[in-house]
Amino acid sequence: MNEATNEVVMENEGLWRHVLSEVELSVSHASFNTWFQHTHIYSKTEGIIVVSVPNSFAKEWLESKFNKFILKSLRGASPDIKDVQFIISPAGSAIPFKFKKKKEEREVVPQDSQFEFQGADKDTNLNHKYTFDDFVVGSSNELAHAAAVSITKNIGTVYNPLFIYGGVGLGKTHLLQAIGNEVLKLHKGKLVKYVSSEKFTSELVAAIQNREMEKFKEEYRKHDVLIIDDVQFLAGKDKTQEEFFHTFNALYEKNKQIILSSDRPPKAIPTLEDRLRSRFEGGMIADIGYPDYEMRLAILKNKVVKKEASLQDEVLEYISHNFQKNIRELEGALNKVIIQMKISKNPLILDDVKRILSPSLATPKKAANIKQIIQSVAGFYGINEKQLIIKTRKQEVVRPRQVIMYLLREEFKFSYPSIGSKIGGRDHTTVMHACEKIGGLLKNDESFAEEIGMIKKLIYSV
Ligand code: ADP
Ligand code: MG
Repeated sequence: MNEATNEVVMENEGLWRHVLSEVELSVSHASFNTWFQHTHIYSKTEGIIVVSVPNSFAKEWLESKFNKFILKSLRGASPDIKDVQFIISPAGSAIPFKFKKKKEEREVVPQDSQFEFQGADKDTNLNHKYTFDDFVVGSSNELAHAAAVSITKNIGTVYNPLFIYGGVGLGKTHLLQAIGNEVLKLHKGKLVKYVSSEKFTSELVAAIQNREMEKFKEEYRKHDVLIIDDVQFLAGKDKTQEEFFHTFNALYEKNKQIILSSDRPPKAIPTLEDRLRSRFEGGMIADIGYPDYEMRLAILKNKVVKKEASLQDEVLEYISHNFQKNIRELEGALNKVIIQMKISKNPLILDDVKRILSPSLATPKKAANIKQIIQSVAGFYGINEKQLIIKTRKQEVVRPRQVIMYLLREEFKFSYPSIGSKIGGRDHTTVMHACEKIGGLLKNDESFAEEIGMIKKLIYSV
């Protein structure tokens, strides 16, 4: 075993130990020993974890009872994990996990940054795997792509800031990272930094606590290109927004390039300070939409070549047809198929692929429950869930409440009286009025329609 593989094994062991330590706290000792003994991570490829188990009982049990728990726990330690699969321990590959009885002996896997971008450079936070070469361009992303490319040639002068928005798994991070990598390639010596807005926030908080604000300021203001991903998470964080505003201005005044991403346009980010919103809107705004069938197929073909796998066209067509939610999900399906192909070592035919992917297709639109809907709407508008239910006529609460009623009716077909009783015991006529009101607005107000579209995506992506 060479050093690199050794490192991977250690990392996987650490990750699995983290999962086991969480499982152990929530199941009986007997159950833990029965189902989790001699399990370990067999491989981790492109966010898919394959767990090796000793027998088919354990496989079935873990698949049916613990799948969700394990996935959640894995993601807690390594957010980029997409799926978990189980195989019965293939001969010769076992690296049995040694049970450690005492908790304090266990090594805790760090929760965040280290796993945020596996393989990322520790100064720039850029991961070399994200390049323009690997980014398939189609009608849904061509504007964002063109703007991104143009920035790498004209740093700080053409579009500043560049603001890219779009739903989950549609390629924002890929594009942002590709800009960073390309700038470093084209312009030696330029300083580039990529950071998620959560990381920006946690570093800021740490700097305040440790009285290291000067260092923090210096660090963020020295770059030629500063890339901040998912700025919607700045919403509601006043102190962070304040500091971000100053960082933004300092860079902007020196013609340094700022690139931002979000899941929605600046005007739809609630509780974003106006001065920051207008800064965000001051440059170029480009959206990334949903890829159509041809583009999904092109993405799959590209990835297959890159992974040096070989799959029949009808298999790729099947995947493109059936995985439409986003590119991350599309990739996940492809990875699942490729992993199975490698494990079985035989060429796969379409029927095998259908069988392999059927569990992922079985739960397309999970019927979102009322709680999820309320959470999503409250989260979107940045208000407290309880406020939505209690009797208040504050306009900032009334509209979101109407939106909830409308969605319950139109999307989920609840009756007017049942919606009324679920949303704080209101009369059915109130619900009818709300639905009419929102329905009317949707017809006449394009940006409102866009807002509702984004809320729906949030609900379905839970
Ligand atoms: P987001 O940040 O918008 O949630 P990501 O950038 O993480 O989405 O993209 C999800 C996955 O899909 C990544 O693995 C990324 O490489 C891939 N991907 C997204 N867009 C494209 C594209 N146009 N071409 C190839 N791969 C893509
Ligand atoms: Mg992202």
